Amino acid sequence: MPVKSFAKHSYRSILKWGDPAQTNEPSKRLIEYLKEHMAVSDEDIRTPHLPGLDEVSLDRPTTLSKKDISALEKIVGAENIELSDYERLRHSMGYSYYDVIMLRKQADVPLVDAVVYPRDEDDVVAIVKFCDKRRIPLIPFGGRSSVSRGLEPIHGGISLDLTRHMKRIKNVNETNKSVTVEPGIFGPEYEEYLNNYKTPLAPGGYSNGHFPQSFEYSTVGGWVVTCGAGGLSTGYGKIEDMVLGLRFVTPKGIMEIKDYPRTATGPDLRRIVAGSEGAFGVLTEVTLKIWQFRPENRSYFSFLFKNMDDGVRALREIMQGEFGLPHMLRLSDPEETSIALMIEGINGGVIDKFFARLGYVDGRRCLLMGSTEGDKDAGRLIKKKSKAIGRKYGGFSLGSIAVKGWHKHRYADPYLRENLMDMKVMTDTIETATTWDNLPSLWAEVRKVVKARPHSICMCHASHSYENGTMLYFIFISRIIPGDEVHDYLDYHSDILNAIAANGGSPSHHHGVGRMMAPWLENFTGKANMDLLRAIKKHLDPKNIMNPGGTIALDYSGEKNKAFRAD
Ligand SMILES: Cc1cc2nc3c(=O)[nH]c(=O)nc-3n(C[C@H](O)[C@H](O)[C@H](O)COP(=O)(O)OP(=O)(O)OC[C@H]3O[C@@H](n4cnc5c(N)ncnc54)[C@H](O)[C@@H]3O)c2cc1C
Repeated sequence: MPVKSFAKHSYRSILKWGDPAQTNEPSKRLIEYLKEHMAVSDEDIRTPHLPGLDEVSLDRPTTLSKKDISALEKIVGAENIELSDYERLRHSMGYSYYDVIMLRKQADVPLVDAVVYPRDEDDVVAIVKFCDKRRIPLIPFGGRSSVSRGLEPIHGGISLDLTRHMKRIKNVNETNKSVTVEPGIFGPEYEEYLNNYKTPLAPGGYSNGHFPQSFEYSTVGGWVVTCGAGGLSTGYGKIEDMVLGLRFVTPKGIMEIKDYPRTATGPDLRRIVAGSEGAFGVLTEVTLKIWQFRPENRSYFSFLFKNMDDGVRALREIMQGEFGLPHMLRLSDPEETSIALMIEGINGGVIDKFFARLGYVDGRRCLLMGSTEGDKDAGRLIKKKSKAIGRKYGGFSLGSIAVKGWHKHRYADPYLRENLMDMKVMTDTIETATTWDNLPSLWAEVRKVVKARPHSICMCHASHSYENGTMLYFIFISRIIPGDEVHDYLDYHSDILNAIAANGGSPSHHHGVGRMMAPWLENFTGKANMDLLRAIKKHLDPKNIMNPGGTIALDYSGEKNKAFRAD
C-alpha cells in the first residue's frame, strides 16, 4: 500500500520531497505500464521497499567542544544553534538519488556537528573567521535540493543554514531593472514579492525569470552557486546570466562585485562565485535582473514531428533564427513522447491511429513544446516564426493544451519518485550540455548504455537551448536490486556518466558538480583548468574549511574518488 503518513521526525520526513502533505501517486495507466515493461509485481506495489518509517535516533553526539559551542552562541545566540540528531541529519542530506536511498536504508552517513542560523552578513563573517581559526568545516545550506551530493559533510563540521533569517529583499531598483536580495529566500516568496511590486513603470509587477523544477523548495543563493537553469531559461537565460552584483564572504575576506552592466577590468569574477557550490565562501547578497510580470501575454505552441531528426532540426533553426527566443522550448525524444502520450491515454486510441496514418508513429514521433512571454508583439513574432519552422520540418501543430498542462503541473512530477522507489523502481536524472553537431551521437550512445540494462526506460528531452547547442536531460528508470541498492545504482550512474564523457557531453549543465560528478571533472575540464580552480580555492580558503571533501573535485584526486562511491 502507498505510504500515506509518517512520523514528523522519521527518515521518511527527510527523504520525502517537498510538501509533507502532497503526493503524486502513479495513475492506473502508469502502473499497468510498469507491470508490463518493468516487471513490477502486485507484491512490489503492496509492500513499500525501504520506506524509512523509523524515527531518527542516532547515538552520535556532536564532536564540537563545549568551548566551540559557546563561542558560536556568542556570535548568533543560543537560539540560533541546533544540535538535535534530527536536524543534524536533515542538514547532512540533499535530494540526490544516493541521498534518498541512504536515508531509506537508514544508513550511517556523515553528519554535521551543529546547525547554525546566521542572522546577517556580520554573523557570517564572524562564523567564517571562527571556523577558519578552529579549522572546522563549514557547509552553506539553502533549500537542500542539491542532487549532486553537494551538502554531504564528509568531515563533519557546521551547516550554515541561511533560510531562517537571511531572506530579506533589500532593494528593487526599477531604474536599473534589478533586485538585491539575501541568499536564503525560497523561490515562491521571492517571486510573490516581485509580482506584487506594482508601480506605474510595471503595473503588473515584476518576475524573477528563474523557475527550476525545484523552485518551491530551493533558494536564490543555491541557484546562483550551482549555476541553475529554470524551465524558461531559453528566453530568460541561466541564473549566472542574471547575476549583476554580489557579496561573498570567504576566509580571505569579503569579495564585493558591483552591479555594473559590463566591464573590461580583467576576467569576470562573478563567474568564480557562480558555480562555487560553497567551496570558496558564502554568498550573502546578490543583485539580479528582473522582468515585467505579464502572464496575460504568455502564448503557447506545440508540434509533433515524425522523428527525432526533424524535431532537432526545427529546434536548432528556431534557436538560430535571430528573431528572438521563445522562453520555453522543449523537445522530447521518442521514448519520452511515447510515455507522455501513454499517460494521457492517447497511445492505442483513435487519435493514435489517426497520427499513425499520417506517419507520426509511436516510438518514432517527437513532441516539441514552446511558450513565449513578455512583450506581446515580440512574443507574437517569435511564435509565428517558430511555427513556420515547425511546419517546414513536417510538424503537426497540436496547439496549446500540452504546453498549458506542462506549465500547470511542472512542480508535481518530483513527488512521483517516492512512490516509484517504494515499488522498487529506481528513477534518476542526468543532464549534460553539448553542441548541435554532437547531439545525435551523444543521445544515441547514452541511450544504448541506459537501455542495456534489463527493464529500463530512458527518456530524454532538450529543454535549455542555445545558438550553438543544447542540453540533454536523461531520465533513467530501472529496477532496484534489493540488498544492493547503493552499489548497483552507483555503477549504473557511473556507466551513464562514462558514456556522456566518451561522447562529448559535459558532466553537468545545471545540477552542478557536487561530489557526485566530481570524479569526471578533471578529465572533462583538463588539468591546467583544474589547477587554476584549485589555486583559487587555496587562495580564498587556504585551510580548506569551505564545504570540503570533494566538492567540485577540489580536494581529492585519483583513488580517493572511491570514497564517494562507498555506502
Ligand atoms: C526535484 C528537483 C528538481 C530540480 N530541478 C532543477 C531545475 O529545474 N534546475 C536546476 O538548475 N536545478 C534543479 N534541481 C537541483 C537543485 O534544486 C539546484 O541545484 C538548486 O539550485 C539548489 O538550491 P538550494 O537552495 O536547494 O541549495 P542547496 O541544495 O542547499 O545547496 C546546493 C549547494 O550550494 C551551496 N550553497 C547553498 N547556498 C549557498 C550560499 N548562500 N553560499 C554559498 N554556497 C551555498 C551548498 O553548500 C551546496 O553545495 C532540482 C532538484 C530537485 C530535488
